[in-house]
Amino acid sequence: LRRITLARRPSGAPVPEDFALDTAPLPGPEEGEALVEVTHFSLDPYMRGRMDDAKSYAEPVPLGGTMGAQGVGRVIASRADGIAEGDMVTGMTGWASHAALPGAELRKIPDGTPPTAVLGVLGMPGLTGWYGLNDLGRPKAGETLVVAAATGPVGSMVGQLAKQAGLRTIAIAGGPEKCAMAKEVYGFDAAIDHRAHDDAGGLRAALSEAAPDGVDIYFENVGGKVLEAVLPLMNTHGRIPVCGAVAWYGAAEDSADRLPATWRAILVKRLSVTGFIIFDHWHRYPDFLSEVSPGVAAGNIAYREDIADGLDAAPEAFIAMLKGGNTGKQLVKI
Ligand code: NDP
Repeated sequence: LRRITLARRPSGAPVPEDFALDTAPLPGPEEGEALVEVTHFSLDPYMRGRMDDAKSYAEPVPLGGTMGAQGVGRVIASRADGIAEGDMVTGMTGWASHAALPGAELRKIPDGTPPTAVLGVLGMPGLTGWYGLNDLGRPKAGETLVVAAATGPVGSMVGQLAKQAGLRTIAIAGGPEKCAMAKEVYGFDAAIDHRAHDDAGGLRAALSEAAPDGVDIYFENVGGKVLEAVLPLMNTHGRIPVCGAVAWYGAAEDSADRLPATWRAILVKRLSVTGFIIFDHWHRYPDFLSEVSPGVAAGNIAYREDIADGLDAAPEAFIAMLKGGNTGKQLVKI
């Protein structure tokens, strides 16, 4: 078995030296477990938080421990009821070539579903976009929505569902290629390159031109300059599902000076700002699947994947993703 472990805790943005590649004997499977040969695993922004020794909604990865991840693969030995050799399954395999997992923690991938889709468009990120938009964003036709990281698996789901619900959709993405993709592949009405604006003021001017009626839903994925640009453009009774703040993951940026203005804007605009962690809402997964998977199968919901080749490529791909190096759902193929 080959795996990537946490060699040390990063300070700020992670670097390759924070990770180590090691080998270990193939595990089990013990009674009740199945041994999975991993074909792909997912790299997600939340993994940056788990590299810190900080209290959060999830336990940190221990030093020397395998980096956690959801993966997909084929069962090569099984002592678990209902799981047979050859089954394609998904579970928390980690950044590793193989994993022995309890049968109850594995889910079979239905025939006809592309295995990697359960890590992105039909998995945790897709559910996150669907839940955050519908339950917390409460979209209404004719309203205007802004989302950043718009070509990623969360942002692209949010943009497409909002468009289908009759909203004006505005993407914020890094670079001209991603902006073109936001409009052409995901149907956004407008796309703004955050890299083309050094400060929140310039970005705000571009946004206000793209959103002449103001912003009703800001689906918060990034924080930082984008949040600062959007907040003053929010309409009264606007909604902000707070999903992520990737611009601030591991950054030492001190924004305490902006806090009073931010807080006051929430008050004066009577905004609903609601944080959520998708792991609290997994019971909605069947509803999400029945609503969204027909659209994915029919091609009405587009998705893209960015597949790094080989376990060794995982640390670099992860480091790059946090800075926008990915185009589409970041995966690693073993
Ligand atoms: P993405 O694949 O979209 O990757 C992250 C993207 O963030 C990058 O590609 C980059 O896109 C963008 N980005 C990075 N730094 C900045 C910056 N300084 N300013 C603006 N954009 C930046 O990730 P996901 O779709 O998987 O996740 C999106 C967000 O959702 C993350 O914050 C993640 O933590 C959060 N999340 C939260 C969950 C929850 O339960 N609350 C569950 C799942 C995800 P670009 O090049 O376009 O700038």
